Amino acid sequence: MNLDLQFTPITLSDRCEALRGEVRDFLDEQRREGVIPETLRKVGMEYSADFSRRLGARGWLGWRWPKAYGGSEGTALERYVITEELLAAGAPVRAHWVSDRQSGPVLLTFGTEDQRQKYLPGVAAGECFFCIGLSEPNSGSDLVSLQTRAEKIDGGYRITGTKLWTSNAHRAHYMLALFRTSKATADDRRAGLSQFIVDLDTPGIKVRPVVNLAGEHDFNEVHFDGVEIPDDCLVGEAGMGWRQVSAELAYERSGPERWLSTFHVLARLVETLGTDVSDETRREIGELFVELLTLRRMSLSVAGTLEAGQPPTVQAAVVKELGTRFEQRIPRVAHKLLCDCPDFEDQDSIARELLEHAILWSPAFTIRGGTTEILRGIIARGLGLR
Ligand SMILES: Cc1cc2nc3c(=O)[nH]c(=O)nc-3n(C[C@H](O)[C@H](O)[C@H](O)COP(=O)(O)OP(=O)(O)OC[C@H]3O[C@@H](n4cnc5c(N)ncnc54)[C@H](O)[C@@H]3O)c2cc1C
Repeated sequence: MNLDLQFTPITLSDRCEALRGEVRDFLDEQRREGVIPETLRKVGMEYSADFSRRLGARGWLGWRWPKAYGGSEGTALERYVITEELLAAGAPVRAHWVSDRQSGPVLLTFGTEDQRQKYLPGVAAGECFFCIGLSEPNSGSDLVSLQTRAEKIDGGYRITGTKLWTSNAHRAHYMLALFRTSKATADDRRAGLSQFIVDLDTPGIKVRPVVNLAGEHDFNEVHFDGVEIPDDCLVGEAGMGWRQVSAELAYERSGPERWLSTFHVLARLVETLGTDVSDETRREIGELFVELLTLRRMSLSVAGTLEAGQPPTVQAAVVKELGTRFEQRIPRVAHKLLCDCPDFEDQDSIARELLEHAILWSPAFTIRGGTTEILRGIIARGLGLR
């Protein structure tokens, strides 16, 4: 067994802490302007294209990218600080989140020069939004079994099939999608998949809402009925999409959004309970904070690995596996402790609303971005156990 899975302790530089101060000042200003609510009643990220543009204007999107593409040439740890502050404040970051976190970096690594110039400055300005088209009605964890095909035609590709659970497809401009361009080979099921940028205004695309447990329209079913896209929409090499997507998923799995989703429930819980609590309650809250701080150190370490230019695939899977189960535990503990509070139902309607929303959203935490079971498989392989 290979136990050499390192989480190196990171000390943030003075520059990082100064940046944190700048982001906090900006967020205070946004709160005063009413862009961020003083009191949060929902967990997760709200959608505001206007707020994304404001962040873009500050240079806080595409933070690590070259200035030639609208970036700021900052570091992974500085980016970590920005995202942590935005999430801790409950800022409405949904519009740009996947474009900034993964679509942009994929284009930077695998895209052509024309693609970088065409899309990245818009993403960095908070004006161009992507969604992720991976899952399909019969393919989620076993993504290589996907059926949507992009058939080569003169000057481009014709796409036929259906993507499912596509978050924000109804609001994004583009989808970064994985399609089958040729058959898998006998010895490699992963061969023959390719990544494409699809303009969601292309004729033949139908986006249908899928309403989630909380009654919200957040993800969709997206139908492609013989949709024709030009050759220059192919990202990277035809048939090499699996390798590119694997790199993309590592960006998706380790950030503070994988353990901060219900942080506000914890903060509100502490506020509502006050200091006059039993030893048992103190212990339960204390345990949650210990886990929070540990996850933060691990997530920081992954940012440090990215900074060093190394692939953090296994470490990222560990952070998501632990982090998302932690996010689910907070509403469970909060529910138990608050229901024991006299008059909770009447007195703290905000805590109740927030908790209800967290309970309805929390099953998604261990599914989106790769399920817990799949992450455990990746970790086992990383440890040399498979
Ligand atoms: C809120 C939310 C947002 C999402 N947004 C997007 C998006 O924007 N774009 C996108 O492409 N997808 C998105 N998804 C889809 C998500 O990636 C898939 O739901 C996920 O990968 C699981 O696939 P599935 O739903 O098909 O479940 P399945 O793969 O069918 O899994 C069902 C169950 O079986 C288990 N299982 C499957 N295979 C194995 C195995 N080999 N070993 C052990 N257990 C296994 C799984 O862990 C799970 O518990 C989103 C999902 C959610 C919940």
